[in-house]
Amino acid sequence: MALCLAACSPHTLFQDGKSDYTIVLSPDASQIERYAAQELQTWIREVSGVELPIASEGVPGKRLLLGCEDRNGRDDAFSYSNDGGDIVFRGKGPRGTLYAVYAFLEEELGCRWYSSQASVAPKQDRWSFGKLFREEAPGIRIRDNCVLDVRVNPVFSARMRNNFVRIPSPDGKGTIPGSAEGYWGVHALGTHVPVDKYFATHPEYFCLRDGKRYGGYGQLCLSNPDVLQITIESVCRIMREQPDFLIYSVEQNDNQLYCQCDDCTTLAERYGGQSGVMVWFVNQVADAVREEFPDKFIGTFAYQYTRHAPKDIVPRENVVIRLCSIECCLLHRYDECERNIAFLQDLRDWGNIAPHLYIWDYVTDFAQYCLPVANWKTMQPHILDFVENHAIGILEEGDYQSVSCELRELRSWILSKLMWNPDADVDALVRDFTDGYYGAGGRYVREYLDLEERVLRREGIHGNCYISAMDSMYTQAFLDEGRALFAKAREAVGTDSVLYHRLETAEFPLCFLQMEKDPLLGLQTGADALARRVIRRDGITRMAEWESGSGTSGAEVLLECYDQMKRDLREVAVLPASPVEPAGNGVAFTRYEGGFMTTGEMLRKGKMTGKGIRPDIRIEEPEEADHFGYVFDTWLKVTEEGVHQIRVSTDDGAVLLLDGKAIIERDGSHSAETAWAYVDLAAGFHHLELRYFEDCEGQELDIRLRTPAGYDGPLPQERLFIVKE
Ligand SMILES: [Zn+2]
Ligand SMILES: [Zn+2]
Repeated sequence: MALCLAACSPHTLFQDGKSDYTIVLSPDASQIERYAAQELQTWIREVSGVELPIASEGVPGKRLLLGCEDRNGRDDAFSYSNDGGDIVFRGKGPRGTLYAVYAFLEEELGCRWYSSQASVAPKQDRWSFGKLFREEAPGIRIRDNCVLDVRVNPVFSARMRNNFVRIPSPDGKGTIPGSAEGYWGVHALGTHVPVDKYFATHPEYFCLRDGKRYGGYGQLCLSNPDVLQITIESVCRIMREQPDFLIYSVEQNDNQLYCQCDDCTTLAERYGGQSGVMVWFVNQVADAVREEFPDKFIGTFAYQYTRHAPKDIVPRENVVIRLCSIECCLLHRYDECERNIAFLQDLRDWGNIAPHLYIWDYVTDFAQYCLPVANWKTMQPHILDFVENHAIGILEEGDYQSVSCELRELRSWILSKLMWNPDADVDALVRDFTDGYYGAGGRYVREYLDLEERVLRREGIHGNCYISAMDSMYTQAFLDEGRALFAKAREAVGTDSVLYHRLETAEFPLCFLQMEKDPLLGLQTGADALARRVIRRDGITRMAEWESGSGTSGAEVLLECYDQMKRDLREVAVLPASPVEPAGNGVAFTRYEGGFMTTGEMLRKGKMTGKGIRPDIRIEEPEEADHFGYVFDTWLKVTEEGVHQIRVSTDDGAVLLLDGKAIIERDGSHSAETAWAYVDLAAGFHHLELRYFEDCEGQELDIRLRTPAGYDGPLPQERLFIVKE
């Protein structure tokens, strides 16, 4: 055995805390190559306990040579190999050599960077080698993993081979030149031609809407030659002042108010729609900058009214089209889900005419960041579709504001790996990560992923990046099974508090869901306690991308809400049944109109506009209807004695009375709020009265029942009765 080792691996990098090697840089090494040398030194020391010296040429002994095959090349490709006992790291600029070092540390020495806080450097007494050779090139040129842990930790970002965030220079002053290839700006047309600077003197620069030039936040009149000239001057100035970006935004503002003037309309007719006008405009900007900036790109959106590809015009070679996947179903491949066909068509249409695409992709739930999203088997096919259609960049938008997303470290790690190598073996990556990051709990995390695959991707279930906790995909059985797996996982890691905490973080989404679906059960099973610990320990600030509530973070609001639930649920009212005689199914309603701010005002001052019987408690007014309200009156027939949960979500106010007792009071004008009540009901008839009103803007009325036998859904119509007087 020892003989074979010596024969197959004749070169020894280190043994028993000693090494003959020196890290050697060329005298004209770039700053980033010097940084690569430091990283190599650091991680070899972590593994072996030996600190190798860093020198420039002319040193005796064996060498780790950090060279640069093509410093001006752009694609970050690299290789490492041995020349006798020397190991040579070669990279194409700007980051190739650095990535060669990281690949060597990962592949040969077993180092891993699972998150900014979780690095692995397996201790070894000896590492020997015979033949070394590896070469790689990135599948995607600009890899922007947009999650908070990557965005605010540039050192970790570089180790994951993301290249959107710059690496700080070792002296702490500024960043290392060439350490990122990024995208300047977003929706930047308004920056190039600002409305507040030009509208007063040149209203004709701005969009014509309904016969008038619009001076608010609209679009530009792209057919106006002055607008083109001003844009070109602005773009050139920015490119000169901030030369470190690869792509410069000439993108439409974030609204749909495109110009309807005759010239713009003629262009749109000629080029197959508004995207044709945009490409026609952007091509001229691209032509104007090409000579001075031959390696740079002009970027523009295919978004909302410009989503479809144009006709009879193609983007120039130095134009990048940025396409967003925001409407897509995350749970299915693009070619196997009816909700993704339109996007796939646009992707292919643009791919057919555009030399370069840049995809703004969505990979988590923005309505509730931490909800389970079973896109583990679709991230890869989605990325492969992007590559096939000439994507040179991907922005994978995740929980960029707060460390909130489900299994965020795993998701982010896999995305980074896939952007570098879209053909990577995802199952192998999952195994590597889960065993490395969760230790003995890893196998149960994989079982949980299998559970998600079975339950959350079952027939007929779809989900875009705005899934709600109330979605029917999340069943109680899923929660029970999932939490049982995490209980086993925590047991498996015993007293290792680091692994234990990571597993609690992984279970947090299930606890959050439990509290949303059935808070009493959540309190009884410790879901609120775990959620509370994780929110505090991980520093989770946001529960969703858009949150109302001023001054307090979403997570704080959630914890206050848990406190309130605890108070509400302390006493479950016991309600006896009433001896009434049913006259038939139905709900009596009275409709009101008027400007009221509470249900009490509605009853006092509202104008009665209708009365009748309907089968259920529901509003059917058009979405834009305002200033109306209802009193619904019915008798609920209870067949299973015991604790029932009633859940009411309303926008605006509502008061629910059961047997004359107010069990839910969410009165007043407010956006959608959900409230729960638990009542211990005797079998028989119970009087239910819901007072509801809509003030203005959004409207919602949803009332649900959960019975002791496990029914969970809308109030069953066959259990709602009108009674004989
Ligand atoms: Zn116009
Ligand atoms: Zn789908």
